Amino acid sequence: MKVISTRDKSAGIGALSAVLKGISDDGGLFVPSSFPILDLDEMIGCSGYPELAAKVLSKFIDMDEPELKALTEEAYSSFDDPAVAPLKDLGTAQVLELWHGPTLAFKDMALQVLPRLMSKALDRQNEIKNIMILTATSGDTGKAALEGFCDVPRTAIVVYYPNSGVARLQQLQMETQEGMNTCVSSVDGNFDDAQTGVKELFACPEFREKMLGYGYSLSSANSINFGRLVPQVAYYVHAYADLVKRGLIEKGESINICVPTGNFGNILAAYYAGIMGIPVKTLICASNKNKILTDFFNTGVYDVNREFYKTMSPSMDILISSNLERLLFEMLGRDDEALRGIMADLKQTGRFEMPKEAIDSLKIGFYADYATEEDTAASIKEEFDENGYLMDPHTAVAMHVYRKYAEKTGDDTYTVVASTANPYKFTQDVLKAVSGEDAREAFGAAERLSEYTGTKVPSQILALKTKPVLHNRFARKGELGDIALKFAGGLNGRG
Ligand SMILES: *Cc1c(COP(=O)(O)O)cnc(C)c1O
Repeated sequence: MKVISTRDKSAGIGALSAVLKGISDDGGLFVPSSFPILDLDEMIGCSGYPELAAKVLSKFIDMDEPELKALTEEAYSSFDDPAVAPLKDLGTAQVLELWHGPTLAFKDMALQVLPRLMSKALDRQNEIKNIMILTATSGDTGKAALEGFCDVPRTAIVVYYPNSGVARLQQLQMETQEGMNTCVSSVDGNFDDAQTGVKELFACPEFREKMLGYGYSLSSANSINFGRLVPQVAYYVHAYADLVKRGLIEKGESINICVPTGNFGNILAAYYAGIMGIPVKTLICASNKNKILTDFFNTGVYDVNREFYKTMSPSMDILISSNLERLLFEMLGRDDEALRGIMADLKQTGRFEMPKEAIDSLKIGFYADYATEEDTAASIKEEFDENGYLMDPHTAVAMHVYRKYAEKTGDDTYTVVASTANPYKFTQDVLKAVSGEDAREAFGAAERLSEYTGTKVPSQILALKTKPVLHNRFARKGELGDIALKFAGGLNGRG
């Protein structure tokens, strides 16, 4: 299928080319030229996650279905649950666990697929020699991208993470990354600083030129990449098929989907799944204390000029939600000119306004709310005490917002609540929330959390204890490019 840019819909390119490019030359994001419709019976008839994911991918990506199935089978083979994305039954809340991959966060669902799509795309064309991935991370994308691209031929990757903001174990996961083609650097500032720094590199012709000199074209593994969006659509389709197969809902009956949101990628995929034919009544957008999206959906005003908070759900500590642009495009009835105006407002003033009618015009309605730090901790404790279910803080934000929504509206529709990380990625905060105990360091906390809850410490966490630190670079504002160029030069020197 062809994809178009949100900022200029006149010219389309193939989906695989878009995966290589990452972002459109005009600064816009790639979106489907039109939405394919799924056959529910076919989806429900799939015999496993990789088969269903391949069918969803085939609607967007120009590859044969058997080839895609081989790709998804390989991508999800390292997951520790044969269901890949199992649903946990907590009554009307159906928790969709998206963290059974190698790095224990939902980013693996897409980042085990994306590098494989890029390899295919590289094989198909002969202009580009190699790809250099530049990625800013709020914590989980970085490790998942490093793991996905590690030793993939013709690719190299640089990950930038904010020096203030990621959890200790997230940092260790990245610092201990193996693979000759990987590079990790901390950046002075928060996630928005890191993301802005990377965006500037993409927009800098001299930098691109120098990279080309080393044989590398730039691309991105951030959630704005079209190749990350598509695999994420699949797990919502799979969850729906699961609910039908288990007899909880009839085929055609609507569900709600509640997603803890930062960069708006995960919940946008749920919207896409709905547009493609999965019956969705309400999309519940859950934010942490950085509640810019809650304010936007409730008032129509998106205003970045506000205080930035560091929370126990760091992967959602974001004020500039990049993927929102794709939803704005739909709100505006795909009017690329109007969207350019809005994005210019955002750039100049840090603010834009969307008329309420435009928000209401979406084919699927959004409900938005947020959780404070206290709400988040209380939610972790409550679900553990009452349902014996242990959640990480990001998932807890979603669960809090869902419970509040259900109570307020009386809506008892089955609701898929996206669970985005294994609780052991954030052990200290989770331990504190369930038991009230303070732990000085993460490994002690993990042991104690395991004792207290009777759950198992994941092997990936235990392994971090003894892995050597291989990356300790640091970049001030303006130095991000030097780090990537030095790395590329070194790779080039090795041939
Ligand atoms: C990235 C991430 C999120 C936010 O997802 P978006 O697609 O950026 O909205 C939520 N929870 C966890 C654990 C994450 O890693």
